[in-house]
Amino acid sequence: MQVLLSSMRRQMGCQPRLMLHCNGRLTICRWSVILVGCLGLIILCMVTGCSSVQVQDTNTDTDTTDASQALNQESISDKVQPPDQTSDTTAADASANTAAPVEQINLGTVCIDPGHGNTIDSTQTPIGPGASETQAVEPGGTSGVATGTPEYERNFEIALKLKTQLETRGVTVIMTRTSNDVVMSSQQRAEIANTNKAALFVRLHCDGATNSSRVGFSTLVPGYNEWTSGIAAESTRAASIIHPVVIAGTQATDDGIIQRENLAGFNYSQVPSILFEMGFMTNPDEDELLATESYQNSLASSMADGIVQYLQIA
Ligand SMILES: [Zn+2]
Repeated sequence: MQVLLSSMRRQMGCQPRLMLHCNGRLTICRWSVILVGCLGLIILCMVTGCSSVQVQDTNTDTDTTDASQALNQESISDKVQPPDQTSDTTAADASANTAAPVEQINLGTVCIDPGHGNTIDSTQTPIGPGASETQAVEPGGTSGVATGTPEYERNFEIALKLKTQLETRGVTVIMTRTSNDVVMSSQQRAEIANTNKAALFVRLHCDGATNSSRVGFSTLVPGYNEWTSGIAAESTRAASIIHPVVIAGTQATDDGIIQRENLAGFNYSQVPSILFEMGFMTNPDEDELLATESYQNSLASSMADGIVQYLQIA
């Protein structure tokens, strides 16, 4: 760059020592510096590539009580990570859960998973195919500090509204559960999305934290690990399209798009997957807001808008 600058200055007849004394030459030099700077930026952008995906990490508290959040806070990373080529992932591990190729999925089908159910089951199950780390089949979710409503009920209410909104937009909807009286592991839920070759696996949850001031809407996506390498990038792409539509439609506090590597619902999924944390039930105001028909409809319609934009069937 210095060589280029010197060269330009020589060509414009403007030596550095004259710059403070010659207004005409100083103007020319400014233009030459701007020109060279722009060229440099263009070259830099071409060399490094320019990513439009902004993945935020606003969810670093370890006090979150929601089951999906509580699994492994340290796994949250603050940016999209490419697959780790240096990891000791074996070929067998990688082939254990490879996402279905896009051309095989049903482009008009979405699988909605209303998180949790009414019965806690602490039986331990691997967080991914062949994993040594385990989690409870149903650890239970959070509950509303103002309404007293359990998370599984709220998730299910909004899921039914999302189902209706998607169906009116021409989407075929598969539900992982149609009642609150179920005990299902995250693996079972993901396998329903896989079996139906859903174009998108949409998991609905509400958040919880010991800090009752926390509010906002976040979208979780699979981080990169031995199980999710086939779906992580596409899931992040889906979130990058859908999340801003929901924030704009609901005016919710934007808690960002967050990668999670230790969620079984992602690790067993073979189709693009996202998880909406629709708001904090541990914040009295947001808990009451989530209970209103109008806000539930706003959530459902904006999520449906974003999803059909992602599916490109809008
Ligand atoms: Zn939950």
